[in-house]
Amino acid sequence: METNQTVARDLNSPLGFAIKTLSLELTYPNGYKALTKTTLNIAQGSFTVLLDTSGAGKSTLLRLLNGLIKPTAGSVFVEGLGNLDSSEILRQHRRQTSMVFQQHHLIGRLNVLDNVLLGRLGYHTGWRMFQSWTRAEKEQALGVIDRVGLLDQVLRRADQLSGGQQQRVGMARALVQQPKILLADEPVASLDPNTSIRLLQLMHDICKSDGLTAVVSLHQVDLARQFADRIIGLKNGKVVFDDSAESLTPELTKALYEHASKSNTATDISSSTNFLNDHPTLIGV
Ligand code: ADP
Repeated sequence: METNQTVARDLNSPLGFAIKTLSLELTYPNGYKALTKTTLNIAQGSFTVLLDTSGAGKSTLLRLLNGLIKPTAGSVFVEGLGNLDSSEILRQHRRQTSMVFQQHHLIGRLNVLDNVLLGRLGYHTGWRMFQSWTRAEKEQALGVIDRVGLLDQVLRRADQLSGGQQQRVGMARALVQQPKILLADEPVASLDPNTSIRLLQLMHDICKSDGLTAVVSLHQVDLARQFADRIIGLKNGKVVFDDSAESLTPELTKALYEHASKSNTATDISSSTNFLNDHPTLIGV
């Protein structure tokens, strides 16, 4: 058994990995260590949920997986590309990796179609004017807008849509990029519970039918259990749980959160012998 570092389990699929991290660390310029030695192997086609309350390091990990920030130690390795250590590999990785954000990041005055077409920008060199999108790109955009159920809203301004509809536009913009990997940072944090379920169901179904690898951060345990193949629990920049969704039983969840609220750090959780004896799927020993 590996010690002295947080090692997430390798829940391999027969298809192999889509993205791996090796002893990945991120210390922000102010000295705050947001991610501690994290080794992960994300299987192709899997739907992984990063779970925990805010400040755990979920966004930091997603930004590292997308190459938006550079690790201060360790590396990210992408299937078919290799280490994210050159600008050309980073460019290729970002083109095949889409992000969905909590706050959607839409341009309110633009209509649904134009917002979705912005997902094609990575395929163009330099900034292209909207009228320069090709017919094929417009058809492709209409296709993904249809998939997310917004074809009847295609010419409506984004700022006239509901939160759930806006997030569907965010998803369509991610999909028009034709990604292999979909990263979503708290995509339902600002939606009501029913809309959240519908949105995650849609995201899950599309990822599964297209064979996309998804890494989605959430803070709702019930949603994680409902949709994830695998749940990675983060606490203070460390992986403290990594297993199938079924393994995160209500009892284990309660124990994890109760313990977490009593102690301050992941180390505290994982170094509690009784706790780990009782809950062997928690990582850290
Ligand atoms: P989560 O997504 O789980 O809420 P984040 O990855 O956003 O967590 O943040 C993890 C920790 O890193 C938090 O304590 C946060 O305050 C800190 N952090 C995030 N970004 C920065 C930054 N640019 N500089 C310093 N600390 C940061």
